[in-house]
Amino acid sequence: MSFSDMPVDVGPVYEGERIRANQMYVELGGPKIEKHFELVRVKSPKEIKDGQVILHGPDIKDMKEGERYPIGILVEVAGPELEEDLEAVFERRIHEFCNFVNGIMHLNQRYTNWMRISKSAFEKGLNSFDMLGTILIRLYKAELPIIEQAQVTFYTDAKEIEKPYDMALEIYNKRDERARTIHDEDVDMFYGCVLCQSFAPTHACCITPDRTSLCGSINWFDARAAAKVDPKGPIYEVPPGECINELAGEFSGVNEMIKKRSLGEIERIYLYSGMEFPHTSCGCFEAIDFYIPEVNGHGIVDRNYGEVAINGLPFSAMANQTGGGKQMPGFNGVSIQYIASPKYQKYDGGIETIVWMPKAVKDRIGELLPQDLLPKIATEEEVQDINQLKDFLKEKGHPVVETWAELEAMEEEEEEWIEEGAMVPMGTVGMTIPGVGGAGGFKVILKNCKIHAESIIIKKIEPKRRKK
Ligand code: SF4
Repeated sequence: MSFSDMPVDVGPVYEGERIRANQMYVELGGPKIEKHFELVRVKSPKEIKDGQVILHGPDIKDMKEGERYPIGILVEVAGPELEEDLEAVFERRIHEFCNFVNGIMHLNQRYTNWMRISKSAFEKGLNSFDMLGTILIRLYKAELPIIEQAQVTFYTDAKEIEKPYDMALEIYNKRDERARTIHDEDVDMFYGCVLCQSFAPTHACCITPDRTSLCGSINWFDARAAAKVDPKGPIYEVPPGECINELAGEFSGVNEMIKKRSLGEIERIYLYSGMEFPHTSCGCFEAIDFYIPEVNGHGIVDRNYGEVAINGLPFSAMANQTGGGKQMPGFNGVSIQYIASPKYQKYDGGIETIVWMPKAVKDRIGELLPQDLLPKIATEEEVQDINQLKDFLKEKGHPVVETWAELEAMEEEEEEWIEEGAMVPMGTVGMTIPGVGGAGGFKVILKNCKIHAESIIIKKIEPKRRKK
């Protein structure tokens, strides 16, 4: 496969390339554009024309520098061995293949896709979707030989994208509905995925019926189909092995897998916990499950939520904490679909610990959550800060309120120990960091943890002097 006719290089070496706002020629999709999507469909050979690239809307060369535009990418593929179950897995490769192009940055998936084309790539001549479509078609056919024919359609016009966008949402919903029909105990095989290791080298997803991939785009059926057609590919079988802890979702086979795939960095995973040995997060998660110590509950914030969440942090700040392939108790990347799973963070108390989520997420998955709990979960429409959240939860009788008395008693006891100069036991330590997060600082509660450090160095960061 050659790309010598293209104005920019193409290859895995460019994966992970970042294009900052000041380097971009145009932005496509992303959080500031209402409708955008990417979708792969399996077709019969008669329905598509191999190698064809179609564009509905302005081409790159007709776009205004520095502007944002909608982007819809529809890849249609054909081949005698193709089946519908493979669509989602092929679709996830759009992310990888776009990132192979020097001068294109692609983030996220499905209806959260977000791309940038760099000024330097545009100046070199990457000025048409015809080139990007041709690159995608060549990569699809070369990397996935069971694809014999491929056609790509781009939508960059706000009106033209409407219909295909609705169609894409319908297809995503159908895939999600199907995924909800089986559970972890019904199967004897899980699956792993390392497609995101170019961004987060220690991250590997474990995909089970109850825990769809955190990017939300690959469910258990999709992963099964992918591992069947390409067993040595980035999606592979993970025999669960012995169930070590049913409540936490700890399996010997999953531990072995993560140890091997993270090169020994991560040793254990609790599939159903965001607080203890949580599943690692790359950077593609649809949402973040975050612990709110003041109410002993959890919040959910999704990638589309543009305001600060109830803990005072925007999604982007929490995403920095959560991603990168680390295990970060209290910040866990999840798919929206997983929130509706009966296994949802079961080890931490399950769905009954959820106290806040954006209204858009609540509207989307509300009918799948326990109906008696639903009115007790606050959104940005009811509460704006933690004090209002506390009052709301008390008024609605949210189940977490029952845990507060115990928590308060523990905190009072600890305050007494501190006042009397006694040594604070290892279990729960509260400390206030002055001058951070406002006049009163913030409280860090370390629950049931052991910390060993040879030394702690606290340095004051002096503002950099401006050069004269
Ligand atoms: S988030 Fe997980 S499942 Fe999705 S592409 Fe990345 S590694 Fe694969």
